[in-house]
Amino acid sequence: MRDIDFVFSTDATIGAYGPVLRKNGWETGAFPVKRVLLSGAAGFIGSHLCDRLLQEAYEVVGVDNFITGHERNISHLAGAPYFEFRRHDVTTPLAIAGRFDYVIHAASPASPRDYLEHPIETLDVGSIGTKRMLEIAERDGAKFLITSTSESYGDPTVHPQVETYWGNVNPVGPRSCYDESKRFAEATTMAYHRARGVKTSIARIFNTYGPRMKLNDGRVVPAFLDQALRGEPITIFGEGTQTRSFCYVSDLVDGLYRLMLSDEVYPVNLGNPHELTIRQFASVITQATGTTAGLIHQPLPEDDPRQRKPDISKARRILGWEPKVPLEEGIRRTIEYFRQFYPADTPALSSR
Ligand code: NAD
Ligand code: UDP
Repeated sequence: MRDIDFVFSTDATIGAYGPVLRKNGWETGAFPVKRVLLSGAAGFIGSHLCDRLLQEAYEVVGVDNFITGHERNISHLAGAPYFEFRRHDVTTPLAIAGRFDYVIHAASPASPRDYLEHPIETLDVGSIGTKRMLEIAERDGAKFLITSTSESYGDPTVHPQVETYWGNVNPVGPRSCYDESKRFAEATTMAYHRARGVKTSIARIFNTYGPRMKLNDGRVVPAFLDQALRGEPITIFGEGTQTRSFCYVSDLVDGLYRLMLSDEVYPVNLGNPHELTIRQFASVITQATGTTAGLIHQPLPEDDPRQRKPDISKARRILGWEPKVPLEEGIRRTIEYFRQFYPADTPALSSR
């Protein structure tokens, strides 16, 4: 065990973390006592989860092959005590000394643009990758948590989506590489729990947004913000009547952390139940950026779910969790992060 000098704390504005002195409770105790293996550590959600786990005084070994993530998401952790990073594809064997208390499998392309570009890799990381991570959890007697998705419900016929709904997925459509990969990952997780006694939890994450999303990953939040900040029209796919519910990343990470510590085996929805049409969401972005470039319509992608809203009663009941950050505030923080990628005289940035 090592002595502690400092841990990491949050800059509430942009979600960046830096070393700060912290005295409460740690001066004399050995630290840290629990070790976490986290795949997808250089991704959007994974990097925020790294920060939260370090803040909670866990030792974190992050693994990522950068297929959709980026080094800059974890560059602030370079040299941090209790954080180790391995560039590695988790579909291949991983040799790391020592045992883990928790194994979190968050690696997977997640945006429709990314998984349509990497369908085989997406299927592999959900199948082979999940199995490899579960084997590490089984070896170490560790708790396993997988980040599944609302896409497990496909184009849902039950609204809002409750965990007991089995979904409406097209197994041969363009999104099937992601949806079926995650459904297989959930089935693998349950099999290791039932047959091998691994302690497991399954998070079904709904649309999450915030700092460190890629500007060009095609998801609606960065896509609309990028268009608005460039002064280009916002591209609405279809009529914009399809709905989504957007959860700010710190809320989501808090839910994941609580689920990691819980004994719940069956899936738990994590997301924000505040539902909007995509057209309404475009208005939120228009107001937040002051863009005057207007909207244009493009064809609706095949199998684009028509409605999506989580029923979070279960998360409220068993985790005592619910989202706290309002959409306007989350968008404001996300714009603050995106500021670095645009010229300082960008109208929407300089006037706000
Ligand atoms: P992301 O693409 O930013 O992060 C995923 C990370 O996994 C990337 O850094 C990528 O390089 C890494 N990765 C992929 N395959 C890998 C492999 N074989 N080996 C090692 N690393 C690999 O996406 P995200 O939005 O941060 O999503 C994180 C997790 O949450 C994913 O499992 C995703 O399915 C799930 N999820 C996200 C959302 C959301 O709205 N962001 C919604 C539902 C589920
Ligand atoms: N969307 C859109 N314009 C864009 C990007 C996305 O209208 O430039 C729509 C998309 O058709 C979907 C919703 O926004 O209905 C959310 O898309 P995203 O790719 O963020 O994630 P999804 O929820 O579909 O996985």
